[in-house]
Amino acid sequence: MQALTTRAKQVQRKPLSWVERIYLWNIFKGMLITFSHIFKKQPTIHYPEQKRTFSPVFRGLHVLNRDEEGRERCTACGLCAVACPAEAITMEAAERMQGEEHLYREEKYAAKYEINMLRCIFCGLCEEACPKDAIYLSETFTPSDFTRESFIYGKENLLIPDPVKQPEAFAKARGLN
Ligand code: SF4
Ligand code: SF4
Repeated sequence: MQALTTRAKQVQRKPLSWVERIYLWNIFKGMLITFSHIFKKQPTIHYPEQKRTFSPVFRGLHVLNRDEEGRERCTACGLCAVACPAEAITMEAAERMQGEEHLYREEKYAAKYEINMLRCIFCGLCEEACPKDAIYLSETFTPSDFTRESFIYGKENLLIPDPVKQPEAFAKARGLN
């Protein structure tokens, strides 16, 4: 009984003073922290107006490359798809017809070339595996979207603009201007 009374005495708290009850000191401390952050360097940036400098080893969105005459370099050999650990690449090969020499660099080309960006882990192995310098990973993010299907990028999304017909768009895509 004696022990219980002693414990009850120990937990008895001193009543708060008027100043403590209005939390003035705590409010002041909180405001002090808030104002101290005004003068600190902001860790965030105003994207997309401002962009961070990428690391030299950054790997972003894929680009299907053309040669200096604007012909598609890809020969649909499939080595990139074999190297891809995420099984993100699919393609269909086709034979180049007579009169199409200005479109495709070699006798075979990719009639269909698709990358599933939801599967891709941006490892860059497809770029390393390609013997034709036909694919590389750029410094561009994959844009956000609303449906899963829209993340399957075909040739219309991946092919770099033609350097002969669209020199400005080509230079922009290569980061030359
Ligand atoms: S970057 Fe890697 S995961 Fe993505 S498509 Fe290329 S090989 Fe596959
Ligand atoms: S991108 Fe390169 S590795 Fe892939 S199919 Fe085309 S030529 Fe072959």
